[in-house]
Amino acid sequence: MLTDDVIKDHGWREELNRRFGWMGGEHGLYFECLGGWRFVLKDMLERIDATLTDPEKREVFRISQIKEKFGEFRVYHNGDDRIDRIVDAAEAASHITCDVCADRGWTQGAGWISTRCSKHSGWRG
Ligand SMILES: [Zn+2]
Repeated sequence: MLTDDVIKDHGWREELNRRFGWMGGEHGLYFECLGGWRFVLKDMLERIDATLTDPEKREVFRISQIKEKFGEFRVYHNGDDRIDRIVDAAEAASHITCDVCADRGWTQGAGWISTRCSKHSGWRG
């Protein structure tokens, strides 16, 4: 889905931070995962942004970590049940999305588990 050039371009991190970096506090958001998940992450952050309409809730809301674990991403945040549901849906989507190219993938590997399409199975960058 993403071309090799786009896979090597890490600009998506800054792009998401420009819009949603406030959720990470003064240091912004740090994405401990590969770029194939950028669309799932963008969709999740947009939904969170749209859900947090109360200025007081926006003020205190924080995402402390976004990282890859066992082939899906994990998001650590201090939001309420509505945010939990958005995050759950996004985590489920990451489970079927190649973390390299964003194509349809599946969780694979023993020991080092990742979600990959057939083209990027075993890909190490
Ligand atoms: Zn792929």
